[in-house]
Amino acid sequence: MDVDEHAEELASALGVDKAEVKDDLQNLLSYSVPVDEAKQSIRRKHGGSGGNDATPTTKDVGDVTTADGNVTVTVRVLSVGRRSIRYQGEEQTIREGEFADGTGRISYTAWEDFGFEPGDSITVGNAGVREWDGDPELNIGQSSTVAIETTPVEVPYDVGGDSDLVDLRAGDRGRNVEVKLLESEERVIDGRDGDTTIRSGVVADESGRLPFTDWEARPELREGSELRFEEVYVREFRGVPQVNLSQYTTVTPLGRSIDVDDEATRLPIGEAVAAGGLFDVEVVGNVLEVRDGSGLIERCPDCGRVLQNGQCRAHGDVDGEDDMRVKAIIDDGTGTVTAMLDRELTEAVYGGTMAEAMTAARDAMDKAVVADEIRERIVGREYRIRGNLSVDDYGANLEATEFERTDEDPAALATDLLSEVRG
Ligand SMILES: [Zn+2]
Repeated sequence: MDVDEHAEELASALGVDKAEVKDDLQNLLSYSVPVDEAKQSIRRKHGGSGGNDATPTTKDVGDVTTADGNVTVTVRVLSVGRRSIRYQGEEQTIREGEFADGTGRISYTAWEDFGFEPGDSITVGNAGVREWDGDPELNIGQSSTVAIETTPVEVPYDVGGDSDLVDLRAGDRGRNVEVKLLESEERVIDGRDGDTTIRSGVVADESGRLPFTDWEARPELREGSELRFEEVYVREFRGVPQVNLSQYTTVTPLGRSIDVDDEATRLPIGEAVAAGGLFDVEVVGNVLEVRDGSGLIERCPDCGRVLQNGQCRAHGDVDGEDDMRVKAIIDDGTGTVTAMLDRELTEAVYGGTMAEAMTAARDAMDKAVVADEIRERIVGREYRIRGNLSVDDYGANLEATEFERTDEDPAALATDLLSEVRG
C-alpha cells in the first residue's frame, strides 16, 4: 500500500475527508513515524479508539455478524426514533432505528446526536457490533464517526418509517402510522414517578388493529378520530405488539378517512405463530384435543390462578372460586395453537350454563363429565377462532374472543347430522 491507499482506507473507515487524512499521514511519515503508528494516531484524532481494538473492517450490512468487533458501513437511514433513558442518574436521549444497504438491514443505537435523518445516506465509521436477540446490532458512540454521503445508497426497503399496523413488531422504533382510534380512555397508573396519567385503547388501519398507550395522555386522541402518529415505538404487552407514543411522538389530524371493517386478519396458524404475537387475528382449524384443565375449574380468589388439587401455586390452600374454560389444541396443517376459551365461550360450546354444568357434575359425582361433554362436542370439528395470539417457550396461545363452527366442511356437517339422528 502506498500513502494514497492508506489514506483512502483510513478516510473511509473514519468517514472523514481523504485529503485531510493524507496530509496528516504524510506529515507523520515525514517525521519517520512508522506507518501503523501514524494510522493509529490519526484514528485517535478522529475519535477512533486508536489501535487497541481491531481495525474496523468495511462491510456490507448483510455480512455483519455478531462475531464482528467494530465495523464501518455505508448505509441509508431507514428510521430514527428518539428515546429518553436514565443513564448513570441522568436523563439522556438516545436514537434507535434501522439502517440498510443493498444487502440487508440492521438495527442501531446511537448514544449521541449525529444529526442524521431518515433517508440520509451515511458512512458510519467504527461502529461497535453487539448481539441483540441473536442478531447483530450497531452501537454508535463516542469513538464512532458519521459522515454524510452525497451518492444515495440504493435500498430495496421503504425509507422513513411509514408502516402498516400488521407489519409492526416488538422492538420497532421511529415508525409512523396512520390510524383510526377505535377505543381510547384515560387511566391513572402507578408509574416510575408515582401516579401517572396515560391514555390507552385500540387503533386500527386498513391492515389490522393494535392496542396503544400514549404516555403523554394527549387529549386529541379521542375515540373515532383519524390521526397520523410520527415516531412511535413498539413493545410487547401481554404477548402482543403495542403501539407506544412518547414525548417525541407528533400527532396530526389525517386528511383522509380510514376504512376499518370489523374483520380480523385471517392467517394460517404457522404464519401467525411465526409472527410472534398478534392482536386480533383469526385462524381456522380442527380441534385435535381438549386438554386437561378444561371444563369446570377452580381459581384462587387472590390471584386468579387455576387451582391444582385445591392448591394455588402462590397462595397454597385457598377456598377456590368456580369457573369454566376450555384449552383446545387447534391444527390447520401449517401449525398448532392452544385456543383458550373463557367462561362465556365455554358455556356456549358446552351447551349449558355453569350452574347446569355443576348440577351435571354433582349428579355424576365427577367434575370430568363436563370436560368429556365438551370433548364430545368439539374434537375433530373445524372452527373459526378469533382472538389475541401470544407465543412463549411453551407454545402458542390464542385467547379467544370468538369460537364458531365453520360451515366450510360438508363432511363434518354430515357426521354431525348423523350423530344427531342417532341421538
Ligand atoms: Zn393465588
